[in-house]
Amino acid sequence: MSLSLPPLPYALDALEPYLSRRTLSVHHGNHHAAYVAKTAALVKGTPLETAPLEDIVRAAAGSEQNCALFNAAAQAWNHEFFWHSMRPGGGKDATGAVAQLIEESFGSQQAFRQQFVAAAGDHFGSGWVWLVLEAGRLRIMTTANAETPLTTAAYPLLTLDVWEHAYYLDYQHRRLDYIAAFLGNLINWDFANERLATARGESSAASAAAPGRRG
Ligand code: FE
Repeated sequence: MSLSLPPLPYALDALEPYLSRRTLSVHHGNHHAAYVAKTAALVKGTPLETAPLEDIVRAAAGSEQNCALFNAAAQAWNHEFFWHSMRPGGGKDATGAVAQLIEESFGSQQAFRQQFVAAAGDHFGSGWVWLVLEAGRLRIMTTANAETPLTTAAYPLLTLDVWEHAYYLDYQHRRLDYIAAFLGNLINWDFANERLATARGESSAASAAAPGRRG
């Protein structure tokens, strides 16, 4: 199966007024699409041509020779994961099993939000902020450029894109306002709970909670 741009899980204007149609149109239809197209071009005619995106990311990781492929494939995977990390009417306190694990891991939901804002606000340059499961606990992780927890022992539950292209049209330099909108109005705790259930082997719908898994 060849790689193709996965559709957004909601309409282009579904996240307004927190993220505009214009932002989603450019971010999904240009940035994300370009990463998918570049990945497809780079694997064409190689043994990875029919591989799932996750396998391409892992195969290309840590190899200078495959740096361009890693950057394109990891960005394709990270973006697909990011779209699922948001939903219309999202945000506010975590729910379900994730809420309990947040309290165990961070002390409180407020402490989690404070740590997330600090990590996302302080991250220098382009990158990603993640809520990950590792050794049975949750922690916040940041990655630079295209780096992704997919190549580590950490299991991602949610991510926020902090590349400027993710927020500049709507928020310009005000990254903290973008982070606040994500936490307050967009974050998809249902997705985080699906991911947690998958990680714990509880989910029968693993494919629904694993963007990037194809074939
Ligand atoms: Fe992006």
